[in-house]
Amino acid sequence: MPSATVITGLRVETLVPLEINLSGKLALVTAASRGIGFGVARVLARAGADLVINARDPEALRRAREAIREETGRHVEVAPGDLTRREDLERIAAVAREVGGPHIFFFSTGGPRPGRFLDLGMEDWDYAYRLLLYPAVYLTRELLPAMIERRWGRIIYLASLAIKEPMPNLALSNVVRIGIAGLVRTLAREVGSYGVTVNGILPGIIHTSRVEELARDIQAREGVSYEEALSRLSSGIPAGRLGRPEEVGYLVAFLASDYASYINGAMIPVDGGRQVSVF
Ligand code: NAD
Repeated sequence: MPSATVITGLRVETLVPLEINLSGKLALVTAASRGIGFGVARVLARAGADLVINARDPEALRRAREAIREETGRHVEVAPGDLTRREDLERIAAVAREVGGPHIFFFSTGGPRPGRFLDLGMEDWDYAYRLLLYPAVYLTRELLPAMIERRWGRIIYLASLAIKEPMPNLALSNVVRIGIAGLVRTLAREVGSYGVTVNGILPGIIHTSRVEELARDIQAREGVSYEEALSRLSSGIPAGRLGRPEEVGYLVAFLASDYASYINGAMIPVDGGRQVSVF
């Protein structure tokens, strides 16, 4: 491997090219048949990780597995299941344990129903908790002890920029996902001394079918064209475009690597500069 010697003051450092190498690591990625979860799974496999991927639809999940295997040659196991159902979560955790217990856990999930506060019933709030927070807690409880025992682990939860800057018409996401931030900080403090890091990612607007669904919702509510609805969603992004799922994946791969061993308890935006507030 090429190297260069650089003299900085009295210290001599040998610099080698940086490369994220996750070979020998197993990652569980939930909600991974498409969208952000799929993009993250692809990038982790490209970095050398083997995978267990989850989503509700077994057929879509198998297609995702074939695409990732073909591209990367990595081992990919499937664990179909609905993240809102406890019995399915038990099965997902069992599959992950059977193949060796994940070193890396990336949590994504489905999107909650769009709506303003008074559009939503209590059943929507119950379901949002079951979808956005409950499976993150359940799977973490199942997977964390092995990470602690191994003295190495990476937990990365997907939340949303909406927890810093509430988004119009997404009351459930704005409110319920804040629990993920509490989970990140709580766990980072409790397990950081065991070589386990716990971080969160706050996507802005990433071009997936979820964003297309949100655009259709704006179109129906506000009587504007689909193109106008999509351009409203992307307005105010300094990068001038929507993000790509893989751009979340690159951050996940970095957080999952040893380069990020001193980053713990962080909530990091991937938003093309969309966040307006300072903190
Ligand atoms: P997507 O619709 O493209 O993909 C969602 C994935 O989740 C699919 O694989 C689907 O099968 C799976 N899924 C849905 N419900 C599930 C369930 N109950 N159990 C198991 N799997 C389930 O969506 P996306 O854009 O990739 O969004 C992923 C998450 O990120 C969502 O919670 C979304 O609200 C959130 N988010 C997305 C954006 C964005 O801009 N795309 C921004 C912030 C937050």
